[in-house]
Amino acid sequence: MRVEQLGDGKADLAIVAAIHGDEPGGVEAIDRLRSNGANVERPVKLIVANEQALEAGERYLDADLNRAFDEDVPEDAHERELARELADAVQGCTVLSLHSTQSSARPFAISPGLDDSTRAIVPQLSVAALVRTGHDVEGRLFATDATIIEVETGYQRSVEAAENAYRISLEFLTATGALPGYTVSSDLSVYDLGEPVEKPPADEYEVFADNFTHVDAGETYAAADGEGLAAEEGFYPVLFSAYGYENIFGYTGSFAGTLQTTEDGTATLTAD
Ligand SMILES: [Zn+2]
Repeated sequence: MRVEQLGDGKADLAIVAAIHGDEPGGVEAIDRLRSNGANVERPVKLIVANEQALEAGERYLDADLNRAFDEDVPEDAHERELARELADAVQGCTVLSLHSTQSSARPFAISPGLDDSTRAIVPQLSVAALVRTGHDVEGRLFATDATIIEVETGYQRSVEAAENAYRISLEFLTATGALPGYTVSSDLSVYDLGEPVEKPPADEYEVFADNFTHVDAGETYAAADGEGLAAEEGFYPVLFSAYGYENIFGYTGSFAGTLQTTEDGTATLTAD
């Protein structure tokens, strides 16, 4: 794990990349921030988490690091020890965790809940939506003693994902007062993460549904070996892709409301 810092003193902000080794866009963003020597007004840790997986071009070596923040992961897994080190490094920090996906070109944010700093920061990031996972965090980075905002910045290994990761990092640093300037808060749709959508056994999969675009009951959202799969109930697809996960297409989501920021900076979730 590589931990560097911009600015002096004890940092309570952090940007984390390469939780997954096959998502290099965040690392490019961190390298750009570092080489630009951004003149920060608050110290910021820049963390490249799974250097070995990054080097191998793999998501992980022994276990998914973003599921390794609990006791279920074998002690001898590379990611188990790494999870401990990362939990120490981000303790007490407000953290932007950069990911990329096979699922969506449009950046979106993920957080366990909507605490005050998440509410204040996320509307200032150029993301299409916020997905709330709830507090059953399944060994994710969310389980650490830190405020975590994950952002999926685009397609894995795309130029856009790296570019978006850099822009969103600058927005995060501006929103938290580490960089001067201002950002614009936009109204943000919030979705609650629901159940995983299982893939039936097959050789080939297709996905027809777009993330955050409602799938109606009866609508064909995917196919397995050419056989269409129709929705039993309506849902909003989240993190949907044909091959992004081994056993699931993605998750069902439900619309929770719109996060609206007033002029005094207070953000309220309005169901509509
Ligand atoms: Zn990831």
